Amino acid sequence: MTATVIDGKARAEDLVTEVTQRAAKLRAEHGVIPGLAVIIVGSDPASQIYVSSKSRRAAACGFHSVQRDLPEETSEADLLAEVVRLNADPTIHGILVQLPLPRHIDAGKVIQAIAPEKDVDGFHFINVGKLGTGETETALVPCTPAGSMLLIEKVLGKDLSGKTAVVVGRSNIVGKPMFNLLLKANATVTIAHSRTPDLPALCRTADILVAAIGKPEFIKGDWIKPGAAVIDVGINRIDAPEKGEGKTRIVGDVDYAGALKVAGAVTPVPGGVGPMTIAMLMANTLRAAEQSVTG
Ligand code: NDP
Repeated sequence: MTATVIDGKARAEDLVTEVTQRAAKLRAEHGVIPGLAVIIVGSDPASQIYVSSKSRRAAACGFHSVQRDLPEETSEADLLAEVVRLNADPTIHGILVQLPLPRHIDAGKVIQAIAPEKDVDGFHFINVGKLGTGETETALVPCTPAGSMLLIEKVLGKDLSGKTAVVVGRSNIVGKPMFNLLLKANATVTIAHSRTPDLPALCRTADILVAAIGKPEFIKGDWIKPGAAVIDVGINRIDAPEKGEGKTRIVGDVDYAGALKVAGAVTPVPGGVGPMTIAMLMANTLRAAEQSVTG
């Protein structure tokens, strides 16, 4: 068997096209331009790249895009004051604070200061609670799991009744919201983590296997149930001496070559879940703007 490769880049492009069209409609019918504010504190190069690509994408969708570059030494009080200002700004519908924050700032406190209706990362307790109780109509859902669900939908449809899903990883950003989304879609879901015994055997039960671990090529081909849909959330940089001295490459949490031989469908890394994350951020911002009109 050779698995179908789930093209996250193409799905993300489709989503961005839809978001751009809906944003134009919102502007034409209600005079509202979705506004996204991205705050970055410090000069971490990886974060800088993420933030500028988010801002660029927002502008390409026709959004009002604001980027606040704050110095590393910004105090927690000053960052909170910036969040409060953006909460009150009617031209801003989505606020994202790029993580990680410098150590002297309590990230949890900052995230909980964002108005829940502008929390496009979906990390505020109100949005976490809505997702946990199945209120997905109004919840803002974290972008990576929400994007992963769209990829699952593409191969298996919206209703996952009768399917068994295993999520490996229990972070608040990926694993736990993924669990809730799969459950909402009627899958029978198990969440695994570093204390789970016999992970290979558990993975072999999964019609849908989601890997969000942060360990390169950790899940092997023979852990995968034949025909399963495999969603690889992991992004890991490893040495690639075959590309030349000092070179690196990006791999997922799943042994991709092994998965291709066994799975029914698999997301590549890069080009799978990654592009969906940023596209979902645009979709969440649009949703926040639409909800500001409909209440
Ligand atoms: P975290 O480090 O927060 O969580 C990792 C999870 O994996 C934990 O729950 C941990 O278990 C579990 N784990 C670690 N080792 C094992 C093991 N040996 N067996 C079973 N479970 C294990 O990571 P994130 O959820 O933030 O990210 C996961 C991966 O996804 C990373 O590679 C990250 O880069 C990537 N990522 C990709 C995104 C994208 O846009 N594609 C966005 C966000 C993340 P325990 O809780 O017991 O410690």
